[in-house]
Amino acid sequence: MGRIAYVNGRYVRHAEACVHIEDRGYQLADAVYEVWAVFDGKLADAEGHFERLGRSLSELKIAEPMSRRALEVVLRETLRRNGVREGTVYVQVSRGVAPRDHAFPKSPVPPAVVVTAKALDRVASEAKVAKGMAVVTVPENRWGRCDIKTVGLLPNALARQVAAESGAGEAWFVDDIGLVTEGAASNAWILDADGVLRTRDTNANILRGITRLTLMDVIRQCGIPLSEKPFTPDEAKAAKEAFITGAGALVTPIVSIDGVPIGDGRPGPVATRLRSLYIERARATAV
Ligand code: PLP
Repeated sequence: MGRIAYVNGRYVRHAEACVHIEDRGYQLADAVYEVWAVFDGKLADAEGHFERLGRSLSELKIAEPMSRRALEVVLRETLRRNGVREGTVYVQVSRGVAPRDHAFPKSPVPPAVVVTAKALDRVASEAKVAKGMAVVTVPENRWGRCDIKTVGLLPNALARQVAAESGAGEAWFVDDIGLVTEGAASNAWILDADGVLRTRDTNANILRGITRLTLMDVIRQCGIPLSEKPFTPDEAKAAKEAFITGAGALVTPIVSIDGVPIGDGRPGPVATRLRSLYIERARATAV
């Protein structure tokens, strides 16, 4: 089955899908996006991702391109046409196409919408996750509105490249007061020396991860102490365990930070258990 993308009202062959050269997303990163994990062909944490998409659009004063209901239809149809039962679905909404000018177009243009779906081999992912992931730390150099999920991801892409070049799977940003903010495409967590699960609070300049939020609920149900007290790279390196969360990573154990092994250098039992509990919950509540 060939891949299909949704572009501005049409389902087209992925290889031929294209946007206008003056799409403001392409020229100015004037666009937002959202990603859902897909289990059994259904959307995980559906509500949270729809809400965040609405918020990202409203923060940037980009018009809603279609109703929530219509968008749901497009997401499901894109999954169906691609035969994706397990994987992710991606939507990107730009302010639209207009002659290049930094200010918004004087007469409003329709937002441009692209939807793509990606299949994932969950068995292969589990095998990869069982080996754990390495992280490197990099200086925080992003803009001040990381709470908005925009496609302006150049610092994130450069950070991921630093990680890739050192054989790591993720980069953690460290802000100017020496605290870990989040990953290039994930939220950062540790199980500290006192057995407390810690992740950065959302008053900091981070994305309010939807997986992070669901996992907090899972953690509360497990009765494990949880705190939004930030941590330094040194605290993370001395932690019992570390992991990341995100619609792509789900819950992925971290086994080293800047080359320093975490715990015994293997995925920790708490992170591993939280991964299976998260997947169980996400699968059961997917719609
Ligand atoms: N932080 C950043 C910078 C991200 O790009 C992502 C996901 O792409 C996350 C955190 C995790 O967010 P979510 O759990 O909603 O996928």
